[in-house]
Amino acid sequence: MSELDDLEPKALPEAMAEARILVVDDNPANLAVLAELLAEAGFRSVDVESSPEKAVERWLAHPYDLLLLDMRMPGLDGLQVMDRLRTQIADGDYLPCIVLTAQTDPETRAAALDAGALDFILKPFDLDEALKRIRNALQTRLLHRQARQRLDAYGQTISAQQQALAAREHDIAYLASHDSITGLLNRHGLCRGLESLTREGHKALVFLLIELSDADQLILLEGTQSVDYLLREAGTRLASLVGERGGLCGVWRGQTFLAVFPQTADLELEVDRIFDTIFAPLPFHGSHVVLHGRGGYALVTDEGSGIDIQQSNAALRAAGLALASAHRLSNRALLYDARMAERFARRHRIERAMQEALQTQAEQFQLAYQPKVDIHGHRVVGCEALLRWHHPTLGTIGPAEFIPIAEDTGAIEILGLLVMDRVFAFLSRRLQHGPWTLPIAINVSARQFELMRARGMSLVNAIETRRAHYRIPRGLIELEITESSLLTDFDWLVTQLEQLRDNAIGVALDDFGTGYSSLSYLRNLPINTLKIDRSFVDGAARDSRQAFLLSNILHLARDLKFVSVAEGVETLGDLDLLRDLSCAIAQGYYFSRPLSEPDLLAWLAAFPPKS
Ligand code: C2E
Ligand code: CA
Ligand code: CA
Repeated sequence: MSELDDLEPKALPEAMAEARILVVDDNPANLAVLAELLAEAGFRSVDVESSPEKAVERWLAHPYDLLLLDMRMPGLDGLQVMDRLRTQIADGDYLPCIVLTAQTDPETRAAALDAGALDFILKPFDLDEALKRIRNALQTRLLHRQARQRLDAYGQTISAQQQALAAREHDIAYLASHDSITGLLNRHGLCRGLESLTREGHKALVFLLIELSDADQLILLEGTQSVDYLLREAGTRLASLVGERGGLCGVWRGQTFLAVFPQTADLELEVDRIFDTIFAPLPFHGSHVVLHGRGGYALVTDEGSGIDIQQSNAALRAAGLALASAHRLSNRALLYDARMAERFARRHRIERAMQEALQTQAEQFQLAYQPKVDIHGHRVVGCEALLRWHHPTLGTIGPAEFIPIAEDTGAIEILGLLVMDRVFAFLSRRLQHGPWTLPIAINVSARQFELMRARGMSLVNAIETRRAHYRIPRGLIELEITESSLLTDFDWLVTQLEQLRDNAIGVALDDFGTGYSSLSYLRNLPINTLKIDRSFVDGAARDSRQAFLLSNILHLARDLKFVSVAEGVETLGDLDLLRDLSCAIAQGYYFSRPLSEPDLLAWLAAFPPKS
C-alpha cells in the first residue's frame, strides 16, 4: 500500500478524522492551502486563525489536538504563542504543536524545537510530507490522549478506593474502640481513655465495675435482642451519670460496665445512687423490667504528680476483686480492701493445688471418721466420713474452705467419687478383718448432685457399681445431703432418693435448721434422718433461749417422724440436755473428733469408756 493510498479520505481512522486541528498563520493564503489539504485528507474539525492573539484565546477556551503554528507573525510570534499556551498545560501533558517555517530559517526551527515543538513543516509546503508529519503528530497525540484517559479513569477509581478505604479505616477504628451493642467504649477504647485520663494529674479516682447479673437468664427468657436493648438502656443511664461527673465509662467485658470518675465526698452514697439509677425499672414490652447487678469499686489517690497508668491498672484489678467478693458474699456493691486480694490469691492457689492433687497426688486427700453414738443405748451406730487435705506446702486445708472452692470449679464431682472410693476401700479392708456393721455416712454436696444430674448420672449407680466391685453388703452406706440439695428439680430428687432407699442406702438431711426447707416439702421426701446443725446445739446447755430453740427443732423432727442426730456435742452438759430432749443420736468432740482409720479402730475398741 502506497503512502498516498494510506492518505485517502476513507482510509483516515475515525478518531483521527475527528481530531481538532488549529492552523495559525498570518498569511491567509497559507491558511487556505492547509485548510484545503486537511479537508481533502478527511479531517473534519479544522479551524484556521490568522491572529495569534485570537489563536491563543481559542486554544485556551477549548484546547486542540494539534496546532499548526506559523513562526513569524506580527504581534505575537510563534514562540510567544507556544509560551503562553504551555503555561496552561497540565502535568504530564504537552503542547501538540508543529511549526510552519521557511526553509531558509534554520535558527527559528531550532528555537521552535527547543521550545517544545514536535516537528516542523517547511514552507513552501510539500503537501505529501506535510500530511505525513501531521498524521504522525496526531497519531502520537491520540495515543497520548487515550493513555491519559485511561490513567484518569484509573486515578478516579484509585481515589474512590482511597475514600472508601479511609471510611473503612474510620469504621474499623470506631468498631475497635466501641462496643457494638451499647455504643459505649469497649475495653480497648477504655484502656486508651484511661491512658489519657492518667495524663490529667487526677488526685483521686473511683474505679467502679458493675455487672448485670441476670442478663444470662434474661437472654433465655427474652432473647438476645431484648437483652441488647436493656444493656443499651443501662449503658445510657450510666454514661449520662458518669458524663456529669467528668468521668469515663464503657463496657469492660460482656455484661460488665466500667466507670471511672473523680472521687466525690461520700463515695458509698455516690455508688448507691449510681446503682439506684441504673437499676431503676426500665420500660419493656409495655411494662417494666428491673435489672439486677453487682458492683466492686476501688478508690485510688495520689498526692504527688497524680494517678498514673500503673495505679490505674492496680485500681482496676482491685475493683475486679471487690466485684468477685460482692458475688461471693451476695452484696450489691463492695469497696475493695486489701484482705480481698489475700483471699483471692489464696483461693487461686488452692484451686490450682486441688487440680494438681486430683490429677497426680490423690493421696493428699484422706478421710477422717467421726463416730455417731446412740445417746440412750450408749453404743456406736455409725460413722461420718469427713474429707481431709494435707498439702505439702499449703499445709492442712479444712473442708469448710476447700469444698466450696471445689463446688465452684466443678472439682467436687471427682472429689465426691474419690470419697466414695475411699469409703468402700475402708469397708472392704474392715470386712477382711472380721465382722463390721457400722454404716459410714458420705457427705454429698448439692453441687455434686446438680453436676451428676446434668450428665444424666445417678448417685445410686455410682454407689452400686462400687459396692459390687468391693463386694460390700448392703446397708453399710449412708448419705448426708444438705438442705440446698433440695432446691433442685423436686421430682428428680424424689426418684433418686427412692432408688437410694430401695438399695438400703439411708439418707440424712444435713445442717438441718439452717436452710430453706419447708415442712410440707420435707414430709414428702423419702428421708428418715435429720442432722440438727451444730449451731443449735452450741451453747444450748448454758443458754435457755438456745435450749428452747433446740427443743423446738427436736419436737418438730419427732412430729415429722424423723430420727434426729445432733451435731457438735462437745460437753457432758450438751449430751444431758439432748437426752432430756429425747434426741436419739449424738456426734461431736465429746465422744470423739474425726479420726484416722487406725485411731478410729482403737477408739471403737475402747468404747464405751469405763468410767
Ligand atoms: P458437716 O457435714 O456439717 O460436718 C461436721 C463438721 O463439724 C465437721 O467439720 C466436723 O469435724 C465438725 N465437728 C464435729 N464434731 C464437732 C464438735 O463437737 N464441735 C465442733 N466445733 N465441730 C465439730 P469438717 O470436717 O471441717 O467439715 C466441714 C464441712 O465440710 C462438713 O460439714 C461438710 O459440709 C463438708 N465436708 C467434709 N467432708 C466432705 C465430703 O467428703 N464431701 C462433701 N461434699 N462435703 C464434705
Ligand atoms: Ca455431714
Ligand atoms: Ca453439719
